[in-house]
Amino acid sequence: MIRVLSLSLSLSLSLSLSPYLSPPFLGFLVKRTNMGSGSCGDQEGEDKQRTDQTLSVDGPIIVGAGPSGLAVAACLSEQGVPSLILERSDCIASLWQKKTYDRLKLHLPKQFCELPFLRFPQNFPKYPTKHQFISYLESYASHFNIRPIFNQTVESAEFDKSCGLWRVRTREGPERTSRWLVVATGENAEPATPDLAGLEKFKGRVVHTSGYKSGSEFRDQRVLVVGCGNSGMEVSLDLCRHNAIPHMVVRNTVHVLPREMLGVSTFGVAMALLKWLPLSLVDKMLLLIANLTLGNTDRLGLRRPKTGPLQLKNATGKTPVLDVGALSQIKSGKIKVVEGVKQITENGAKFLDGQEEEFNSIILATGYKSNVTSWFKGGDFFTKEGMPQEPFPNGWKGGDGLYTVGFTRRGILGTGCDAIKIAGDITDQWRSSVKESNQDLHNSHIILSCYVRFLL
Ligand SMILES: Cc1cc2nc3c(=O)[nH]c(=O)nc-3n(C[C@H](O)[C@H](O)[C@H](O)COP(=O)(O)OP(=O)(O)OC[C@H]3O[C@@H](n4cnc5c(N)ncnc54)[C@H](O)[C@@H]3O)c2cc1C
Repeated sequence: MIRVLSLSLSLSLSLSLSPYLSPPFLGFLVKRTNMGSGSCGDQEGEDKQRTDQTLSVDGPIIVGAGPSGLAVAACLSEQGVPSLILERSDCIASLWQKKTYDRLKLHLPKQFCELPFLRFPQNFPKYPTKHQFISYLESYASHFNIRPIFNQTVESAEFDKSCGLWRVRTREGPERTSRWLVVATGENAEPATPDLAGLEKFKGRVVHTSGYKSGSEFRDQRVLVVGCGNSGMEVSLDLCRHNAIPHMVVRNTVHVLPREMLGVSTFGVAMALLKWLPLSLVDKMLLLIANLTLGNTDRLGLRRPKTGPLQLKNATGKTPVLDVGALSQIKSGKIKVVEGVKQITENGAKFLDGQEEEFNSIILATGYKSNVTSWFKGGDFFTKEGMPQEPFPNGWKGGDGLYTVGFTRRGILGTGCDAIKIAGDITDQWRSSVKESNQDLHNSHIILSCYVRFLL
């Protein structure tokens, strides 16, 4: 009799508990167990309860809703693991939506810029426009049901040893905690601005490329473009097309390669050759073809570095320029190449060679930098430049549940590799948590049954 009663009670207990046997709920149980006194917060997951000022997040907290953050969330969602993205802007991929110029196209062919588990639509051209790339990212987010929390600027993230959780604080919202932190704020989080003597005296307009939209705003102007990377070259080309007169400052050496070689993308050729040949040989082949197709760029004021383009990229992260037409404008004299700036004046600039020129505007094509060091607290995982100490392919994972994605200096391709590894690693831990929770649940079930027996 006692046995029958206890059995039916256990059965009804199991049935009534069954809706809660899902990973989020089990994750919650695990966290509550790990948290000891529970002082690290309450759950934010499917049921989003808010207590005091600390929310406990189911799955990892991902900082940043650019391609990298979205890729990790998607890979996790494929494994049934929830995550929470905190994004400072009011949209996904804010770099692409808000800080890029109108005529921007992907620099690399589309097959090298896809995120895991979703291809570009077939009708996209070989080099999708930025608008097409943004629409792809929008469909990516909705396909994997990724809903970041927007307008949340992470101001600090710190590992709390006492409860084994990351504490993440935003300017706008409550503190959140999680066992895992994924840093996805990117290599391009903030504009990098150079120290240009006298810049503050300049009376014309000064804008970083992150604020440049189109050459139409500079029609007929004399414009000083500081920087000769892909952005500097493309902005100069865009200015030409709007009848402006760009002067491009080339302070350092630079590798310019044709975007395509006999109709095949240079990047694709390099990737294919690297499967068979050593890097130094591939570099030599690229330079040979570049010299044959583009001519000697040194004569145009674009001196090549001594190290080959791929070796340089690997060692310093400096990307070679893939020419999309700027070089022919340099050859025709429409884009003027000037040496380093000595000083900016009220109306223009003095150059290292002693020349002085007047300009209406200055565009800083001086790149971007990581902002991790401004909000990530503790540990020596990151360099003072906000990049992982360990370079690709080892920089994706730190200790205590810390991960980074999109810091490989290898664009979207690097992001995809990292995202898959991170999701795999977190999923393994998540599943073993679930097992432990099942065990916990099973144990409490036995204890309850015994207790009922005892009562009866
Ligand atoms: C002009 C340009 C063209 C490029 N073209 C290519 C290309 O053709 N192919 C390619 O493979 N790569 C390209 N790249 C390189 C790289 O792939 C892109 O920069 C890509 O957007 C990187 O994605 P991400 O998610 O790592 O970083 P981001 O796109 O920069 O996203 C990071 C997100 O984090 C958010 N964030 C930052 N700080 C905080 C904070 N404290 N709190 C909350 N949120 C925060 C930002 O608002 C942003 O939305 C290009 C880069 C640039 C700048």
